[in-house]
Amino acid sequence: MNTSAPTGLPRWWALLALLLVIIGCERKSIDRALQSDANGYVCGSCQTRFYTSHEIFPNFCPQCKQVDFRQVVGYVCAADKHVTVGPRGRSGLPCEQCGQATASLCIPNEDNLKAWGAARKTGPEVGVN
Ligand SMILES: [Zn+2]
Ligand SMILES: [Zn+2]
Repeated sequence: MNTSAPTGLPRWWALLALLLVIIGCERKSIDRALQSDANGYVCGSCQTRFYTSHEIFPNFCPQCKQVDFRQVVGYVCAADKHVTVGPRGRSGLPCEQCGQATASLCIPNEDNLKAWGAARKTGPEVGVN
């Protein structure tokens, strides 16, 4: 009953390997789409808003040197596509432009963060060399 298995097996493995490669590539492109040119943060101690280039992950707040900062995300308004920046994890943040509840999340880009009032910080300013 099982005579076709020895010849069929290698083909399955090749197909499976190909499938994994395709999945791997797609995941990479999704990661890239989610990546912004900047990372935005707000300090929980002094409320300072700041951002760094995307490869820098701060060790402390550039203002008060505390570690009590949170990464921010963009909340996209369904009505006018305006991006309202706020700390990650908050739900139902109203659009700052029209006041309606925001529908989806995005990674804010540098322009969004600047409009929000964040200042660009370099690695040494946030404890990263
Ligand atoms: Zn601070
Ligand atoms: Zn809006």
